[in-house]
Amino acid sequence: MTAIAPPDIHDAETLGAARALLDAAADPEAMQQEVLKAVQRNETWRGNECVNLLAPEALVSPTVRRLLSAEIGQRAAEGHIGPVNRWFAGTKHIDEVEALCVELLKRLFKSNYAEHRLVASMIGNMAVYAALTQPGDTVMTIPQPVGGHSSNRYDGPAGIRGLNIVDVPFDAHELEVDLDAFAKRAREARPKLVALGASMTLFPLPVREIKDIVSEWDGIVFFDGAHQLGLIAGGQFQDPLREGADIITGSAGKTFSGPQSGVAVWNDPQLTRPLLDAVFPALAATHQVNRVAALAAAAAELLAFGPAYMANIVKNAQALAHALHTRGVPVLGAHKGYTRTHQVIGDVREFGGGLEVAHRLAKANIITNKNLLPDDTPQDWDRPSGLRIGTTEVTRLGMGELEMQAIADMIAGVLVEGRDPEHVKAEALELRTGFQTVKYCFSSNTRSSL
Ligand SMILES: *Cc1c(COP(=O)(O)O)cnc(C)c1O
Repeated sequence: MTAIAPPDIHDAETLGAARALLDAAADPEAMQQEVLKAVQRNETWRGNECVNLLAPEALVSPTVRRLLSAEIGQRAAEGHIGPVNRWFAGTKHIDEVEALCVELLKRLFKSNYAEHRLVASMIGNMAVYAALTQPGDTVMTIPQPVGGHSSNRYDGPAGIRGLNIVDVPFDAHELEVDLDAFAKRAREARPKLVALGASMTLFPLPVREIKDIVSEWDGIVFFDGAHQLGLIAGGQFQDPLREGADIITGSAGKTFSGPQSGVAVWNDPQLTRPLLDAVFPALAATHQVNRVAALAAAAAELLAFGPAYMANIVKNAQALAHALHTRGVPVLGAHKGYTRTHQVIGDVREFGGGLEVAHRLAKANIITNKNLLPDDTPQDWDRPSGLRIGTTEVTRLGMGELEMQAIADMIAGVLVEGRDPEHVKAEALELRTGFQTVKYCFSSNTRSSL
C-alpha cells in the first residue's frame, strides 16, 4: 500500500472527513449509522428548513416517494415487456407495471411510443445519438454559455458517439435561436440531427422553423426537454412533437416532478427499433422497476394536475423574476416578460458572481445554483456570472405570488442590502415552516401504506 493516496477528482477535504468518520466508527454497523445520520441531516435541512429553488429539482408526492422503496425495486427484469421478451421468469406483474407506465406516458404526451427504462435523461440522450447517428456525423447543438447542456456537446454523449458538433447560433439578447444564422449555417453543415436541448431555458424554441429547414436533407429534430418535460406534459410550454420534433427526451425529476430518471417519446414507427435496441441491450439492463412504478404514478398525477400545477410554476417564476428585478437584482429577459418556464436567471456579477452568491444564499437556507451567462467565456466556467432559480418545488408546496415577493425580499436582502445571511435564514425557515404539504397529488396520497 502506498502511504500517499493518488489524487482524486473529488474534494480532498470532504473525502478526508468521511475517512475520519469511518476510522472513528467501532464497527461496520457504526459506519452504516454514519450514512443514516448524513441522510437525516440532509432531510432535516433541505427537506424541512430550506427554500429549495434549484431548477432541476422537484418534490415528489408521498405515493411516488413510497413507491421508490417498494418491494418491486428488488426484482430484476431486463429486456422488453412481455413473457417472451424477458430473459427472466416471474415478471408477469412487473410487465403490468411497466405496461401501465408506457401507456400512461403515451397518454400524457399524446405520442405513439414511450420509453420508460432510462435511469437518467442523460442515458436517453445517449440512446438517441446511438440510434440515430453514426460516428463522424455532423449534428448541431446549443453551446453551454447560452444554455446548452453537456449531454449534447463534446464532453457528453454526443462527444462519446464521435460526432462532429456545430453550434446552433443563439441570439444572446433575445435568448432565442438566431433563425437566420441557423438557416445559413445548417444549409452549409447539413447536420444529420439538430438537438434543441438547454438547461438554461427561458423561452420556447423554434422547432417548426428548424424542422422546415433540416427537412431539405431529411434532418432529424431532437428536442431534449430535460427541464421542460413537465411543462410540456401539462400543456404549458410549446408542444414539440406537434411542431415537428422527431423525438423528445426529458428528465422525470425536473419539472415533471417524478423520480429522477429519464423519459423518451416519439411518433415515427421507424425510430422504434433503433431506439429500443439502443436502450436494451446497449444502455439499460435491470432498470429499477420501483422507479418505473414511481414514474407511472407521477405520470398519472400530471394527467390530473399537470395543467394547473405547471401554469402556477410559470406564474410564480414570472412573479419572482419581476420582484427580483424591481429590487435591484438584474434578471435576464426583462424586456420579454423574463421567462416562459420555471426558471429565473439572475445576472449577479455585481454581487460577486454565481458561485459566491449561491453559497451566500445557501447560508440563508435559500438553495440556487451558479450558471453561465451568454457572455461568459470558458475561463468563467467555475465562477460564472449568473444565478439560476427554479420555482417547481415552492409551487408544489403551495406557494404563490405573495411568497414570491417574500423570497425576492430575502434574496435582495442578502445581495443588494448586504444583510447577514444568518439573519435572513430565520425568515427563510419561517416561510418554509408554513408550507409542508405536497400539493397537486391525489388525496389518497396521504394514506401511509401502498
Ligand atoms: C439536466 C439535463 C440533462 C440530464 O438529465 P438527467 O436526468 O439529470 O440525466 C440533459 N439535458 C439537459 C438539457 C439538461 O438540462
